[in-house]
Amino acid sequence: MDYLPIFIQLRGELAVVVGGGQVASRKVELLLQAGARVTVVAPEVVDELYALAARGELHHVCAEFAASHLSGAGIVIAATDSREVNAAVSCAARKARIPVNVVDDPELSSFIFPAIVDRSPVIVAIGTSGHSPVLARRVRAQIETMLPARLGALARFVGDRRKEVQHALPPAKRRPFWERIVSGLVGSRVLAGDDADANAAFQRELSASGSTGQLGEVYLIGAGPGDPDLLTLRAVQLLQQADVVLYDRLVSDAVLERARRDAERVFVGKETGGDHHRTQEQIHQLLVQYARRGLRVARLKGGDPFIFGRGGEEVEALKANGIPYVVVPGITAALAAAASAGIPLTHRRLAQSVTLAAGHALDDETLDWRMLARPHHTVVFYMGVAQLPRIVARLLGAGASADHPAAIIERASLAEQRVLRGTLGTLNQLVSDAQVEAPALLIIGEVASMATADADVTAEDASPVASAPRVEADTGG
Ligand code: SAH
Repeated sequence: MDYLPIFIQLRGELAVVVGGGQVASRKVELLLQAGARVTVVAPEVVDELYALAARGELHHVCAEFAASHLSGAGIVIAATDSREVNAAVSCAARKARIPVNVVDDPELSSFIFPAIVDRSPVIVAIGTSGHSPVLARRVRAQIETMLPARLGALARFVGDRRKEVQHALPPAKRRPFWERIVSGLVGSRVLAGDDADANAAFQRELSASGSTGQLGEVYLIGAGPGDPDLLTLRAVQLLQQADVVLYDRLVSDAVLERARRDAERVFVGKETGGDHHRTQEQIHQLLVQYARRGLRVARLKGGDPFIFGRGGEEVEALKANGIPYVVVPGITAALAAAASAGIPLTHRRLAQSVTLAAGHALDDETLDWRMLARPHHTVVFYMGVAQLPRIVARLLGAGASADHPAAIIERASLAEQRVLRGTLGTLNQLVSDAQVEAPALLIIGEVASMATADADVTAEDASPVASAPRVEADTGG
């Protein structure tokens, strides 16, 4: 190890910054955040520093650097563009045994600044021992996506309750208790911003901590359309901590790979005729059983759990059984398909409203076909491929014209994505020629004419065209 990473308490300490440019200004900002008293030594300073000095938030010594400026300093930073001045600062600081950093010059520095991920009071510092700041920033960006935004709140939540737990539990029980708190129900409540619920769950855990039977919970997670990059950060975070993952047919392998390696994976797809056919009722039972065993259960559903996903029924079942749950929204197929086909679902000139409709249960009369057939309205049919001829006939019957634009997006966001563009008049032919299969989405309305295809696909020229821009899917090999 070339450097020992430590965290320095600077509250109330004098920090001297030599130099008055942008670089100095960024360091000053950091030092002020850490509560230091800042003195800037420079004949001239940039506007930001001038403004801070004017507001009394720092002391500006308008002069060339002299060793005497360091008197009383707890930390020194040299950020001038003269190596000579920087070297003089370094030399004076080292003589006085004050820690010194010379920006971009590890040789002249007794300490270096790390890249920081700030979830105060949780702080992650990343260093490359001065070898590659670019690499450090990259690592930082990766860590940023891994750590929940409210991680700091969780640290404070725990910190505020340490004393209480010390009184309530013997030492041997504290660590397992905190592990349960941080990675279980309480933690997920705090991270979701639900403090009241978190506190209630904490009190329950604390009073039950003598016994063993603790309750698990269910994360109802929207897995998006298939491309793992379209998962939300929270979806990935919860997937990383779930003990069991229940997933559907629509959940891609690449998404499943984001789950913890040792998590149990349970396929609960409802494809008819499949070997593992499970009824919705059985899925409810599984969710409840796993949670009752104290497990953290991720229920991964394609797209968004609350859009044609029967997530609502699962929530009812969980509520009825007193199982705590979190719902994480996902990118629903309509949004993913629209984005990758280049179809804006609303558009100032072309569509002022949009309907998401289910195309598989057309027998009931719940759909207002006249409204769906209206100009300047977009309708997206989920599960509509098998019923396509009936959907087209209904829309034509309700007054839509045969040249009303329409598009079909098959396997949106995946490597095999196909986009077909046509009209109500050509759609049936187009789809049967191209042998479109589920999952596919039907988008009807003027906006569908904006679908990007490599060439126009029409009923006469019916070879399917894969369209750009495509979202590259990591199919996991
Ligand atoms: N909850 C899901 C929808 C489930 S219903 C969501 O929010 O997306 C299943 C239907 O969704 C499929 O029949 C198909 O119409 C659509 N669908 C799901 N994933 C899709 C994809 N990658 N490409 C196109 N359509 C998709």
